[in-house]
Amino acid sequence: MSPTGRFLGLDIGGTSVKAGMVGPGEKRVGASMPLPTQIQDGPEVFLDRLCDYARSFGPFDAVGVGCPGVFDPGTGALRASANLQNLEGRILGQEIAQRLNLSENQVRVDNDANLAAYGEQWHGAGAGRDNMCLLTLGTGIGGGLIQDGRLFTGPHGMASEVGHIVILPKEQGGHPCGCGSAGCLETLASATHVRRRAREAGLTEDTVELCRRAEAAAGPERELLHQVGRDLGRGMSYVVSLLDITFFVIAGGFSAALPQMIEGIHETLSERRYGTPKPDVVRATLGPDAGWMGAARLAGDAR
Ligand SMILES: [Zn+2]
Repeated sequence: MSPTGRFLGLDIGGTSVKAGMVGPGEKRVGASMPLPTQIQDGPEVFLDRLCDYARSFGPFDAVGVGCPGVFDPGTGALRASANLQNLEGRILGQEIAQRLNLSENQVRVDNDANLAAYGEQWHGAGAGRDNMCLLTLGTGIGGGLIQDGRLFTGPHGMASEVGHIVILPKEQGGHPCGCGSAGCLETLASATHVRRRAREAGLTEDTVELCRRAEAAAGPERELLHQVGRDLGRGMSYVVSLLDITFFVIAGGFSAALPQMIEGIHETLSERRYGTPKPDVVRATLGPDAGWMGAARLAGDAR
């Protein structure tokens, strides 16, 4: 088959699969309608449906796939995924390659937050930045690292799990985390846990309303989001100390609260800074397109 110069990106989420194609000269052909994930139908049905969806985009040279969870970098098997548990253990790259009649090196699979970082650094908020860390604030907190222009996932595919850096130790009241630990950044600053913190403080659980009230007037809503910002800044300060990365992109639904959190973020970042320049913290610009664009970029790397 002759090369088309087209690369497909698929971003598998808990509720929908988003996709798009990148054509010759990095031209974005654009995303089509998302596909409902409906993982409860079982892995076989889901993978068949996913591959029908991929074929609907027409010919392409390679496909990149983003999926929440941890991949074995050796085999490409999905080791663990909180949202897509019944795909655990599956070697997604291989299964998709077989269904699409592609060779295994024409299918590249990685963690969704890593690929969102790869997308944002390509055509989004991180364009032109060789070093950056992306945090997605949603149900949990995902992280993605770009070092020297390349995606860094580590030897076990476990790098950049910024959401599971412990900020508030168990003995100091850290809340249990889905990962088995307690007091992880995710238990303080993910959308899910901000709702919990708001509820415990007797405030509205609606994060949009919470932000609106925080913006409108001083009061407990503003204080809570300021505190969440301080917690986020603590987590980010570890990234600064360890990797000398000072450019952060905040993504995910709860990134809308960045204006209410930014002061708190910079407070704790500057309390813990040692010799590094003041970090830049910006909001992601690609929205729901970051994941599939990063996946399409990864597919193009296979050339
Ligand atoms: Zn955790």
